Amino acid sequence: SKTQVGFIGLGNMGKPMAKNLIKHGYPVIATDIFPESCKELQELGAQILETPADVADKADRIITMLPSSPNVIEVYTGLNGILKKVKKGSLLIDSSTIDPAVSKEMAAASEKMGAVFMDAPVSGGVGAANSGKLTFMVGGVEEEFTAAKELLSCMGANIMYCGQIGTGQAAKICNNMLLAIGMIGTAETMNLGIRLGLDPKLLATVLNMSSGRCWSSDTYNPVPGVMEGVPSANNYQGGFGTTLMTKDLGLAQNAATNTKTPVPLGSVAHQLYRMMCARSYASKDFSSVFQFLREEEGQ
Ligand code: NAD
Repeated sequence: SKTQVGFIGLGNMGKPMAKNLIKHGYPVIATDIFPESCKELQELGAQILETPADVADKADRIITMLPSSPNVIEVYTGLNGILKKVKKGSLLIDSSTIDPAVSKEMAAASEKMGAVFMDAPVSGGVGAANSGKLTFMVGGVEEEFTAAKELLSCMGANIMYCGQIGTGQAAKICNNMLLAIGMIGTAETMNLGIRLGLDPKLLATVLNMSSGRCWSSDTYNPVPGVMEGVPSANNYQGGFGTTLMTKDLGLAQNAATNTKTPVPLGSVAHQLYRMMCARSYASKDFSSVFQFLREEEGQ
């Protein structure tokens, strides 16, 4: 039978990902600082422990899915962190989207304890997390990729090796900068069409058979009533939080500064999402930029 896998961070993404590990027959040992997040997984047979150190004491393969860099630093190197109890030879896979420099630090700290750390952020959203169709962008020692792939294949359809540690994060940050630009573009385009008297569903259909088509128009449309099963159909609840997108755009800006790369649209996207965080959009899905634009112009 399969040996147990640790999972830390059971939020919008982590919970469905851990569920898919259970579905594939892996016994899961999990923890989250928010006890409510653990209930559903416990009912599915996962063992819930108090701290990341407790998880590391039992499982020698651990996946982490946390909001941002400070949470990852805490979960790995904190007082009750993974590295306090990690077994030699353990494989630690971080699927959070964080600063690549932090991934490198965590890899170095893990190596000191005889463990292997890989960055493996994901793309696809909650829908793909549920259906096990995520894209994983993996960075780290290539020899360890096969072992990582065995687990990641239970949760994803595309598992891409990107290169040395931190390169998974680099690919992810680039993707999300484009995603934000595409989402804002889709939202303002849809709104213009609506103001010109077009039916939003019809406009989306036309865009999706034309050259303006993108993921935000055909899979995650931001306009309520255009698609079912997306956050815009549910008052922008669930999905990918505006604060998380703002974080990713900040990571892209840092990366652009470090490499002296001009990213004008990425910069505007960052500022727009910052403004949304300062208003009432922080905890809503990032497609609520449509609502934000409607608010700005006055109804
Ligand atoms: P989330 O906020 O819904 O979940 C994060 C979970 O981590 C929460 O349950 C929280 O309680 C837990 N947590 C935080 N600190 C902890 C700690 N110290 N110990 C244990 N648990 C802790 O976030 P999410 O939407 O699941 O996203 C997770 C990561 O994946 C983020 O980096 C995000 O940018 C990335 N991501 C999200 C999506 C998406 O569509 N939501 C898509 C791709 C990538």
